[in-house]
Amino acid sequence: MRLISESELERLRQTYPKGTRVVLDWMDDPQAPPLGGQGTVIGVDDAGSIMTSWDSGGSLFVAYGADTCHKVATETEAKVTLDWYGKCQPEENATCPRCGSAIAGLTSRQALIRNADIMICSRCGMEEALEAAGLRKKIPLIDWVAIKKSQIGGGPWKG
Ligand SMILES: [Zn+2]
Repeated sequence: MRLISESELERLRQTYPKGTRVVLDWMDDPQAPPLGGQGTVIGVDDAGSIMTSWDSGGSLFVAYGADTCHKVATETEAKVTLDWYGKCQPEENATCPRCGSAIAGLTSRQALIRNADIMICSRCGMEEALEAAGLRKKIPLIDWVAIKKSQIGGGPWKG
């Protein structure tokens, strides 16, 4: 492990604010989560380690100068995040992961999308149907509020 400079630490903290969704590239630890596995950033410590809560369980740090990770950046990675969010979506009064608006009432009454295991609001459901029919330009998963907000420190998306 090498020591981190003040400016590098600042850069890391800006790049990986709390709530950022990351993908593990490499971790030199027998207890490491699977490579390619995703997690939610808790914060960056003074040594530059990215403290992460892994979806597979555990919270091993991504050690500065030794391990590497990157932000969720592709449609495939965004889908993994959305599937994961879908599992922690509350049954009532959830937030629509696509537009960020509040969904009143039972989540299960809303629209289930085809490409990820998650509920979205009825209005987004209608827009998705139009997109599927080719009547509207498709919004990539990576542009959904749940993903975009996470990447700028919107915190782990809950409900
Ligand atoms: Zn929506």
